[in-house]
Amino acid sequence: MKVLLIEDEQKIADFVCAGFREQGFAYEHCNNGTDGYARASAGDYDVIVLDIMLPGRDGLSILKGLRKAGLATPVILLTARNELDDRIEGLNLGADDYLAKPFFVEELIARIQALLRRVSGERQNRLMVGSLSLDRISREVTWNGEVIDLTGREFNLIEYLMRSPGRVFTRTQILEHVWGYDFDPSTNVVDVCIQRIRKKLSAIGGNGAGESPIESVRGVGYRFRKAA
Ligand code: CA
Repeated sequence: MKVLLIEDEQKIADFVCAGFREQGFAYEHCNNGTDGYARASAGDYDVIVLDIMLPGRDGLSILKGLRKAGLATPVILLTARNELDDRIEGLNLGADDYLAKPFFVEELIARIQALLRRVSGERQNRLMVGSLSLDRISREVTWNGEVIDLTGREFNLIEYLMRSPGRVFTRTQILEHVWGYDFDPSTNVVDVCIQRIRKKLSAIGGNGAGESPIESVRGVGYRFRKAA
């Protein structure tokens, strides 16, 4: 857990850094926008706390530059009371939160922790194995960057296998998990459903897509191929 603080007012920087130390956060502090931008774009931080009015380069310009460069690190803006327009612009530019001065360092720390929980929650809602990516919230699956149109059952089946790449699941396990216990175990719905998923993948991916991510294990069942 590492925070980058970009803030030119020494008093504020001092109490924020003291709060970070007390909380056990690793941190770096920059007191101008030029260094701040350089560190933010080069470093590996979990959160960036960014003042708006800065010598060198202002906070909004830093934020804009970082997002334009594809950096997704969460950013909390520190704003003055009268900077409402800047707050709105900041959120539009991709800030994740803001805090108006004056503030208590405890509140900044609580916001940072809430933000990190949110980000890690979003990460857990997304599964990625090789070229296949699955979003549990939007229920969208993409294969080599293209969205695949799946039915609810097909989605549930792929999600079930994808949670444990490399692990073999029997037809009965898949049936019970995706269709429920009251299904006749001699049915071939699992095989039919997997055939349909493979067909959809190969239709979209063409020859460049590589092998189907779902492997048959003869006499046992199926497994999701581990990423190479
Ligand atoms: Ca300032």
